[in-house]
Amino acid sequence: AVDAILVSACLMGINCKHNGENNLNEKIIKLCGKYKLIPVCPEQLGGFPTPRPKAEIVCEDLAKGVLKVVRENGEDVTKYFENGAEEVLKIANLMNIKKAVLKEKSPSCGVYKIYDGSFSGKLIDGSGVTTKLLKENGIEVFNEYALEKFL
Ligand code: SF4
Repeated sequence: AVDAILVSACLMGINCKHNGENNLNEKIIKLCGKYKLIPVCPEQLGGFPTPRPKAEIVCEDLAKGVLKVVRENGEDVTKYFENGAEEVLKIANLMNIKKAVLKEKSPSCGVYKIYDGSFSGKLIDGSGVTTKLLKENGIEVFNEYALEKFL
């Protein structure tokens, strides 16, 4: 059987980004013949509409690993991000998926980098809410710059 891989839906050209656009990545589309790519957008699955206001992760207590996700106006939207992550994990488990290619820098999908919570475009080391949950559950997560591993 062909392996199934979870992919951030925006990387496959789905207009699920916060601004209603996408992050189409032609290299990922080329993987379609080799793998069964399953597009998921944790933020839509978590209950957000599209378009939606931008959100960033703020670390409440880094030592304890407590994270909060907020909008620029300070509104706490953590629950939506957690719900979305749970739904993506559910899909992975249902389909016995062990690998994911997710969009770097997103507060849901970021793999190695996220914005620092100041809405000033500054990046820090860290991963998105969905990436974290998938990794905690034994799923290998790659960003869109690591596709050579799949070719
Ligand atoms: Fe793309 Fe992930 Fe953001 Fe959805 S949550 S738009 S899949 S980066």
